[in-house]
Amino acid sequence: MEFYMQVSLIIVLFVFGPTTIFSSSSVSSNGLSEIPFKLLDFAQKPQVFDWMVGIRRKIHENPELGYEEFETSELVRAELDKLGIDYKYPIAVTGVVGFIGTRKPPFVAIRADMDALAMQEMVEWEHKSKVPGKMHACGHDAHVAMLLGAAKILKEHEQDLQGTVVLLFQPAEEGGAGAKKMIDGGALENVNAIFGLHVANHVPIAEVASRPGPFFAGSGFFEATISGKGGHAAIPQHAIDPILAASNVIVSLQHLVSREADPLDSQVVTVGKFQGGDAFNVIPDSVRIGGTFRALTRESLMQLQQRIKEVIMGQASVQRCSATVNFLEDEKPLSPPTINHKDLQEHFRNVAGDMLGIHRVKGHQPLMGSEDFAYYQEAIPGYFFLLGMADDKLGPLHMPHSPHFQINEDALPFGAALHASLAIRYLFELQQEVPLSAQEYHDEL
Ligand SMILES: [Zn+2]
Ligand SMILES: [Zn+2]
Repeated sequence: MEFYMQVSLIIVLFVFGPTTIFSSSSVSSNGLSEIPFKLLDFAQKPQVFDWMVGIRRKIHENPELGYEEFETSELVRAELDKLGIDYKYPIAVTGVVGFIGTRKPPFVAIRADMDALAMQEMVEWEHKSKVPGKMHACGHDAHVAMLLGAAKILKEHEQDLQGTVVLLFQPAEEGGAGAKKMIDGGALENVNAIFGLHVANHVPIAEVASRPGPFFAGSGFFEATISGKGGHAAIPQHAIDPILAASNVIVSLQHLVSREADPLDSQVVTVGKFQGGDAFNVIPDSVRIGGTFRALTRESLMQLQQRIKEVIMGQASVQRCSATVNFLEDEKPLSPPTINHKDLQEHFRNVAGDMLGIHRVKGHQPLMGSEDFAYYQEAIPGYFFLLGMADDKLGPLHMPHSPHFQINEDALPFGAALHASLAIRYLFELQQEVPLSAQEYHDEL
């Protein structure tokens, strides 16, 4: 594999050589609009496409959970080394931050997540996960391959960059707040804006879907212990029944969304765990319940969190029980809503429209799933979109987090070229708006 990759790199460099997509001295709006299409054409060349597919399959065979992406991170760094791209490592345990361009402002970031899920793959194919109980069932293997594809494209056109592209390979998107740790590690230093994508099984291939404003919900988790007094099931007057109390707690929690929330402000409270008692004729001492809550604004999310605690404590005491509530902030930190910056909407539509045709740039309803790209968007303007994979030839694709989840690898060139085009054009447009001399930045990459 190592030998093959080196040989293929030489071939790619020989066949394509460094190319100029536009000359900085003579850029016309016409020239700019051609960039996305040209980059897609480049990403679809067999040499580039096959290279991305190879990377994606290698990562798929060796899935690693959040903050354990050591081999994936090593693979990323090895490819960046081969491409001659500088990077910082480690950030956020396994994270890698690469730099392409002038090393001067403006700075724009593009991001991929690297972690897999703790589940057994049920798809029988040549590159099935080799690690029992772990699987890339959310497409993050494809995300890494596409960001490396973008890195290759951008390096190829480095002389055209009007600033610096920052590549973020982050750990632990699946509930580990890897994005937050990347920011704490300085990954967004000097960065003006960030773009990210997620593969989507329900969006057609060669299409993208997104929306300005709230796109993915913010999410939090809770666990509560409701304690009463155990006793004989036939003598309830001598016991305090935590099962009945917990049942009332759960019913009351459902009123938070149905009675307290604005019906036009989507929210979810789901209790997914109920553990208590293991005999037919015994009232147990305590019951544990747990669940998740979702909202499309940070205010609604915080309001839900506060009310969940109040309802559990209050309703437990109505039944003479006590309760403790834990929001699991260490293991499963609160994830803010993914809110697309309105000012980047037009940029995204223009770039994606120039590549795919504007009729393939679709709107999308907000989703109650969550995505930790939201942390970046709380820090700087950011834009997140769905990349289509659905193709009638393949039949219906399974949802992310399904053990039957599959990637349509034909989507890889679209993702790589979109990443690269969004970054190149953003730098160019910002450079036109704010002259280099007027920008301030820290001189430390
Ligand atoms: Zn996921
Ligand atoms: Zn995901």
